[in-house]
Amino acid sequence: MQQQLFDNHGRPINYLRLAVTDRCNLRCFYCMPEEGIHYLPKKELLTFEEIERLVTLMASMGISKIRLTGGEPFVRTDLMQLIRKIRQIKGIQDIHITTNGVLTAPFIPELKELGIASVNLSLDTLDRDRFKQITRRDEFDKTWEVLQLLLTAKIPVKLNAVVMDGKNIDDIIPMVELAKDHPISVRFIEEMPFNGEGNHYAKLFWTHHKIVEHIRLAFPSLQKVDDPKSSTAYHYQIPNFKGNIGVIAAFSRTFCGTCNRIRVTAQGVLKTCLYDDGVLNIKNLMREGRSDEELKQQLMKAFSNRPKDGFEAEQKRSNKKVNESMSTIGG
Ligand code: SAM
Ligand code: SF4
Repeated sequence: MQQQLFDNHGRPINYLRLAVTDRCNLRCFYCMPEEGIHYLPKKELLTFEEIERLVTLMASMGISKIRLTGGEPFVRTDLMQLIRKIRQIKGIQDIHITTNGVLTAPFIPELKELGIASVNLSLDTLDRDRFKQITRRDEFDKTWEVLQLLLTAKIPVKLNAVVMDGKNIDDIIPMVELAKDHPISVRFIEEMPFNGEGNHYAKLFWTHHKIVEHIRLAFPSLQKVDDPKSSTAYHYQIPNFKGNIGVIAAFSRTFCGTCNRIRVTAQGVLKTCLYDDGVLNIKNLMREGRSDEELKQQLMKAFSNRPKDGFEAEQKRSNKKVNESMSTIGG
């Protein structure tokens, strides 16, 4: 039986979100600036061998679920080779991917064959022009096509839409309607301050409450349903809809009490909370030649010093200003 890992607050940790690159082919304005992005030199990224070693180690400690994210994961050369390697690692039961879909289409048959557990497709609008305004690239058609291909391949799909005041509010209801005829989980995410520029409002207007209220006005039959264990989303159902609706309080941080996830950034730094600024440089330890046992000890130390929530993590940051891009964190 696989080992169970707990943090200092008694929360099980079994889920790793791994950023395989900080690079991206889109420029979503809530994630990164349009220009002047300083991508990491390639040698600063974890190599596939380092990732394999780290995931194997973490799996032996109790990690059973992994999400590959970034940046855009499919921008990393030979991503499928990495996925095939991770598939072989004992203890990793589920592999998930978060992608913007632009480069994803050719890989769908292989993802299906490898038994990918689900794909989170980021799509903030159903309108081509708005897509271009938000992502600063004219790639709506590719993302839309990938949604159709994933549905046809019967790979479980979650759509991720960041709710942005003055940008895509008119899209909320049409996106909910996608769940009527398709078995999709449509998830609306509160906008977080990780836009790579450090400029962010102090108070959020489109909170999870406001998003739910807005949906309920159009669909009075919206019902709250049980949330899966450790889920960050509040789940809702509309009678006779094939899919469901999720609302993620990413800025309000109401889900920390059951948080089961850790992150490793593109540069190989461990984050035990989305809002901390990195608690352990695993890449450096590996490149210094530390043994698996030493790495394990350092990881355990970090897991037993985990902040109780995102507010405590933010307070403890050495760099007080939240100015990093979500693409480096691994959203
Ligand atoms: N490039 C891939 C994509 O967009 O799906 C994976 C990486 S992206 C950083 C992962 C998720 O983070 C996306 O669903 C994106 O919408 C979300 N995200 C990025 N910046 C965000 C922000 N400031 N607030 C909330 N969600 C954000
Ligand atoms: Fe790229 Fe994803 Fe960030 Fe958009 S949200 S810029 S697609 S990493």
